[in-house]
Amino acid sequence: REPLLRVRDLKKYFPIHKGILGRHVGDVKAVDGISFDIYPNETLGMVGESGCGKTTAGRTILRLLEPTSGKVYFRDDSIYDLKTEQMRALRRQMQIIFQDPFSSLNPRMTVESIIGEAIEFHGIAKGEERRSIVESLLERVGLQPSYVTRYPHEFSGGQRQRIGIARALALNPDFIVCDEAVSALDVSVQAQVINLLQDLQEEYNLSYLFIAHDLSVVKHISDRIAVMYLGRVVELATTEDLFENPLHPYTQALLSAIPTPNPSKKKKRVILKGDVPSPINPPSGCTFHTRCPARFGPCSKVVPRSVEAEPGHFVRCHLYDPEYAPTDPEVWARM
Ligand code: SF4
Repeated sequence: REPLLRVRDLKKYFPIHKGILGRHVGDVKAVDGISFDIYPNETLGMVGESGCGKTTAGRTILRLLEPTSGKVYFRDDSIYDLKTEQMRALRRQMQIIFQDPFSSLNPRMTVESIIGEAIEFHGIAKGEERRSIVESLLERVGLQPSYVTRYPHEFSGGQRQRIGIARALALNPDFIVCDEAVSALDVSVQAQVINLLQDLQEEYNLSYLFIAHDLSVVKHISDRIAVMYLGRVVELATTEDLFENPLHPYTQALLSAIPTPNPSKKKKRVILKGDVPSPINPPSGCTFHTRCPARFGPCSKVVPRSVEAEPGHFVRCHLYDPEYAPTDPEVWARM
């Protein structure tokens, strides 16, 4: 199976300037070398605490932000090498659903204009024809076609997010970045919107990059999950493998915080010390070493590489790298 999207060593740094002369004093390393594939009809979940770079990653992958370095291939196209016109054509196939359904819809536009804007811009339809496309999109996301004349403030959060989904679907895309798409909604509404996204995936053969800060949210929709910490993917595995056999100490800590319905499977709660360090001056070596209960010899000096610890299960941690793996059982006992 060929991937739909290939991300290779992608970096996005934001320069920091100080003083009247705007002297460059450093960079915020929001995304610091991430690589993965997304397959047709697949959902890749992306999780991590706020500030770990997942939203920047989603936007850079769509080229809403230009990268510092690295490549993204959509089918055979290297997207950062495309000219404006070519990128505009490709944009129809790559869409985004934003986090906040309250601020991502223009309050002065009707639902018809919000969803239909791109349909007209790309020359697909206008007038009556556009309206009937918008009506059928509304129906498809579980809203009444008659809502076309209404404004965003007339809807609940869940309904607004359905409008956001209809807008993303309007150009018949293959790939959608769902950027914290359900995080602002109540738990019961979250489940409805996730079900809708899953139905649409089946129907339109969509691939999703589903970004969230909560592992229990991505669990239900993702085929595979990438765990991010300070701009890097520290673990990537199928959802089942990640939940059954988390390898990275950070993933283990995230998972241990999720209440389990089966007490016999309860794992020791790992409490992480401190907050996520600043991405301006990240810790040396493994950026997680300042909080890691298992850190040992090389952790503060050597940047861990990504190793395939089990087939299809990638982890960036010296514990699993044959070159550094500790023989001292005391290190493993700390996990
Ligand atoms: Fe912990 Fe070291 Fe692994 Fe980093 S490389 S997660 S500090 S054990």
